[in-house]
Amino acid sequence: MRPVLGLSSYLSFMDRLELTVTDIIQETRNARTFVLEPEREQNLSYQAGQFITFIFERHGQELRRSYSFSSTPRVDPFHSITVKRVANGEFSRFFTDKVEIDQQLLALGPSGRFTLEMSQERSRQIFFIAAGSGIVPVYSLIKQVIHDEPYTRIQLIYQNHSQKEVIFARQLANLAHARPTQFRLISLITDTAHGTDSKKLNIPLLEILVRRELLESQEHLFFLCGPASFMRMAQFTLRWMGFPEESIRRENFTVMPFQPPAPEIFDPGPKNLLLHYKGNIIKLEAAAGKNILQAALDRGIELPFSCRTGVCSTCAAKCLRGQVKMSNNEVLTESDLQAGLVLTCVGYAETDVELVF
Ligand SMILES: Cc1cc2nc3c(=O)[nH]c(=O)nc-3n(C[C@H](O)[C@H](O)[C@H](O)COP(=O)(O)OP(=O)(O)OC[C@H]3O[C@@H](n4cnc5c(N)ncnc54)[C@H](O)[C@@H]3O)c2cc1C
Repeated sequence: MRPVLGLSSYLSFMDRLELTVTDIIQETRNARTFVLEPEREQNLSYQAGQFITFIFERHGQELRRSYSFSSTPRVDPFHSITVKRVANGEFSRFFTDKVEIDQQLLALGPSGRFTLEMSQERSRQIFFIAAGSGIVPVYSLIKQVIHDEPYTRIQLIYQNHSQKEVIFARQLANLAHARPTQFRLISLITDTAHGTDSKKLNIPLLEILVRRELLESQEHLFFLCGPASFMRMAQFTLRWMGFPEESIRRENFTVMPFQPPAPEIFDPGPKNLLLHYKGNIIKLEAAAGKNILQAALDRGIELPFSCRTGVCSTCAAKCLRGQVKMSNNEVLTESDLQAGLVLTCVGYAETDVELVF
């Protein structure tokens, strides 16, 4: 019998990981890789393309930032993230300027849906389209595909401002050299300083590159990660070229500075929530205008979350009963929605609902 927890219970289910930085690799002037080791009894298992969310405390306030794994399970004998310094960014600068070996960090367990089911026999074509630090989850996925799907062809279109800023330049060149028939690297540099042609990915160039590389007989998949405008351009181009929405996956690093406003709900009264989380069944009420995550947090029920703006999917749950309306969704695909997935950080109950996390 699983415990049913009522309104007054104070709950903290979160599996918080305690991680220690055991190595630091300077990838470029502005990007560093951090090798992380969990406390002995903790298990850090993740899929290529996923991220972890670090929890920081500043002036008594809890703040969260997510960073994708640059390491690949079953390929790399370590766990790592790679952080690029953001001008005026609070936590990226902490990582790139201050963190040293032996630094202790607190994080939520891995999450994210920028992942791929793989199998040895499968043969398909995957285009990865990345810019700047967007290479981090893409690099993890590329290593996984090379390891797990030897018949799948990979094209990486990778945009950077200058050659000096290219994260994993050497590693990617080595992979392309070692697997010339499987992996093709197309590096685009905007800066013309060293006499090279300036190449900035735009609609016509992306169309030319995709048509040139396309293997007609294959199933095609596209993984996009980079600044919001870059991904919008790539998504628009691919859709316009006729590739279905379902073949295009995106990872958005840009979190909105403010929570999107609550959507209009036909019956705005309070709703009953029944949540299945970590083997417990939790009953609570969501007041009008309050999202599901906030309703739980207000009761001391610490569900997983990170961006709070419908971007990262850390808070995703499956709706078993009832209707949830989201004020934003930048991560769930059409098939995720059809399967009943919702983002609780921007999800408002339209009826009584039952959700499983
Ligand atoms: C799923 C996911 C995965 C990610 N993976 C990676 C990764 O692998 N590698 C990586 O490097 N990053 C990654 N990111 C991005 C990362 O989480 C951070 O957003 C990034 O490092 C910036 O955080 P920061 O604290 O340094 O910047 P912040 O302090 O949050 O600032 C970000 C920007 O906003 C501006 N800003 C801040 N406050 C204000 C304000 N009040 N008004 C106006 N402007 C303001 C700053 O000047 C800065 O330019 C990922 C994000 C997500 C959601």
